Amino acid sequence: MARASINVTMLYARAHARTSAAALSGNLQALSRRAGVPLLLPVKADAYGHGLDIVARIAARHPDVWGLAVATPQEAGTLAALNPGKPIVLLTPPRPAEVPVLADLGVRLPVASLAEAEALPPHARAHLKIDTGMNRLGARPEDAVRIGQRLAERGVLEGAYTHFATSDEPDLEFAWEQFRRFQGVLAELPPVLAHASNGGGILSLGKLPGMGLARPGLASYGFAPPHLKDVLPLTPIMTLDAEITHLHTARAGESVSYGGLWHAPRDTLLATVGFGYADGMPRNATGQAQVTVAGERRAVVGRICMDQCMVDVTDLQVEVGDSVRFWGPEGITVGDVAGWGGTNEYEVLTGLGARVERLAEA
Ligand SMILES: *Cc1c(COP(=O)(O)O)cnc(C)c1O
Repeated sequence: MARASINVTMLYARAHARTSAAALSGNLQALSRRAGVPLLLPVKADAYGHGLDIVARIAARHPDVWGLAVATPQEAGTLAALNPGKPIVLLTPPRPAEVPVLADLGVRLPVASLAEAEALPPHARAHLKIDTGMNRLGARPEDAVRIGQRLAERGVLEGAYTHFATSDEPDLEFAWEQFRRFQGVLAELPPVLAHASNGGGILSLGKLPGMGLARPGLASYGFAPPHLKDVLPLTPIMTLDAEITHLHTARAGESVSYGGLWHAPRDTLLATVGFGYADGMPRNATGQAQVTVAGERRAVVGRICMDQCMVDVTDLQVEVGDSVRFWGPEGITVGDVAGWGGTNEYEVLTGLGARVERLAEA
């Protein structure tokens, strides 16, 4: 049939997210050095939007990465199929029926009750999850010791962990209190691979006694909370470019885009760009967003649409097919976009849409 010979690879994405292997590697090295332990790198939510396969491949050969952490059993299965050659740790509770499947894949499982400890197959490896104050997942400290001891008796206890609720806040009193509660449980267990710090914890608390791993997510991808920006030289690893698909002039006084919110103050050369809110550009950034085009900062004008947005490129030498930069390691950052959109870097990165092609660069 004729259909089979149509070359759909000619039909390519309008927006590209490129991940720098060098920048990621540098961030991982700096974070591991500050934490004083190897990393359990969170690659949940498609590696914070960067592309699971791309990040897993870089992490797999990085000497400071012990293993990879995922949020869901589904992600664990996808990652196991990529065969990263390093341990995979699941961070949220699997359904009972998923436990043997995950154990057969070698995925390390979170355990937070005696019933879960008893239900593990003998070849499973468990990370005891302790809730020291986040009130999200895990066993309470007073119950955790008994569960950990049972896991050890069964020969399946590999790790124990907790998660900080406020390590990226300026006030660290509660984070230290959580760490003391964690230490109290660890003191009653045989030696395990203990892990507590996320990125905020590494940056704010530094080396923590008795820890075997740390779990920096957003910091690995290059971002620190404002008050911790100077602790380590982290580099944002993603560059987001999209293509100009159309150029036209709006006459003075004409309105642009849905709702007619913005009116051209003069005849205005507009570039229509293939990156909209379905691709991850926050719709709430309408009226504030800027981009870099032909080396200049220019305003996004009118409502940001689902698939497109319009940029004032008056007096610039641009053509259809040229790239517009939405964010990168220099110039406009993900943090700027998040600020315009009334959200944070986590949400902008993980909100990148499926149409955005993920690429790796050296
Ligand atoms: C997401 C997550 C992390 C990473 O958090 P960051 O703030 O991105 O460093 C670490 N541990 C757990 C349990 C998580 O869910």
